[in-house]
Amino acid sequence: MKRISLFIISILTISASAQTTVKQDAGIKQMVDEVSSKNIEAIVRKLVSFKTRHTLSDTVSKTEGVGAARNWIKAEYERYAAASNGRMKVEFDAFIQPQGNRVDKPTPMKNVLAILKGTDTTDKRIYIISGHYDSRVTDVMNIKDFAPGAVDDASGTAVSMELARVMAKRSFPATIIFMAVVGEEQGLYGSTNVAKRAKAEGWQIDAMLNNDIVGNTYGMETGLKDNRSVRVFSEGVPAVENEKQAATRNSVGGENDSPARELARYTKEIAERYVEQLDVKLIYRRDRYLRGGDHTPFSQQGYTAIRITEMNEDFNRQHQDIRKENGVDYGDLPDFADYDYIQKVARMNLTVLANLSLAPSEPQNVGILTSGLTNKTQLKWDAPKGKAPAGYYVLMRETISPFWEKKFYVTGTSANIGYSKDNYLFAVQAVDADGHESLPVFPKPVR
Ligand SMILES: [Zn+2]
Repeated sequence: MKRISLFIISILTISASAQTTVKQDAGIKQMVDEVSSKNIEAIVRKLVSFKTRHTLSDTVSKTEGVGAARNWIKAEYERYAAASNGRMKVEFDAFIQPQGNRVDKPTPMKNVLAILKGTDTTDKRIYIISGHYDSRVTDVMNIKDFAPGAVDDASGTAVSMELARVMAKRSFPATIIFMAVVGEEQGLYGSTNVAKRAKAEGWQIDAMLNNDIVGNTYGMETGLKDNRSVRVFSEGVPAVENEKQAATRNSVGGENDSPARELARYTKEIAERYVEQLDVKLIYRRDRYLRGGDHTPFSQQGYTAIRITEMNEDFNRQHQDIRKENGVDYGDLPDFADYDYIQKVARMNLTVLANLSLAPSEPQNVGILTSGLTNKTQLKWDAPKGKAPAGYYVLMRETISPFWEKKFYVTGTSANIGYSKDNYLFAVQAVDADGHESLPVFPKPVR
């Protein structure tokens, strides 16, 4: 058993008397400041200018349709990549989608990927940020009419692109992929293709952030105006789980500690460390009620993925023909988007990608010892692969608490905590000397 530091870094962030120590990395803070609402607005307005980005629309025109849009996105990524010293490679991820419900004939489709290679060739970690660049109006098969899709989802695409611009100039040990995917509105086809390809090619994707509908700050019907809150959706029970894993989850009460949920809590902690006037609202479900998005195909391939979406949606905007009815404007036009808000969401994503890719890898084989009954909790783990961490945080919270409440800093690979595993939940994360934390790992029972 290793000695536990008496210094508890952060305690009870939800109680009124709590204090949180904020320690920022100057490099990450500088990148956060570089994310520009002006650039984001220019990207959104340019995407809207293609008239429609419907997945089945024209691919020949240089100025209109999905083909012109994806060519422009690729050229923009290549422009950003020029500052990367050859580390950022831009490619189309092309495939032919067979005929289906919302695809009237076999159709060639292209995602755009900007891959910023990690500087450590032995580091296999990949972090993905994604938005979908396709758009639609009321009729999902209408490929002709003006479908601006400013918020759904030029906003998320702009987040991927603006972060590629800012981060291409910097070095990270792990690889970051900035995606703009197609076919979301027709059935998540673009993201499904990347997720399946990743699985088949053995990509080690440790986190996937899906940004879809991140630019509106007005709530239809409620009249709420909120440019401060953003939702992060995460599944509790993993989409992929075998019988043995399910049995373990049931017997330790791990249904609120899936990898996606650890990523969601991590996102809140890191983003609020850097981004001012931002409240990350964790929604403990895979997506909005009965709805889905591009993170789901990644979850289904066993990857850790979350969805990021504005707090209040305006359904007079999404999937609507442009029109005025009884004095109400319908349609996803760029004048209704809040670019300072998208900037905030982009900054939030940046902090997570940067902190993760600068951090050590996750500790391995994290376990709680169960050989004897005790009112304490004995944890042990193995050091991560790659860069050695300075130490580890053992995270602890009450079973009814949504967020971690205490962090115990230890330098060895075990800890004996004077609180019972019957009454508290635990996880372990690796941390380097600059304070970059890995994702927390929820322990398995070990003997
Ligand atoms: Zn969308």
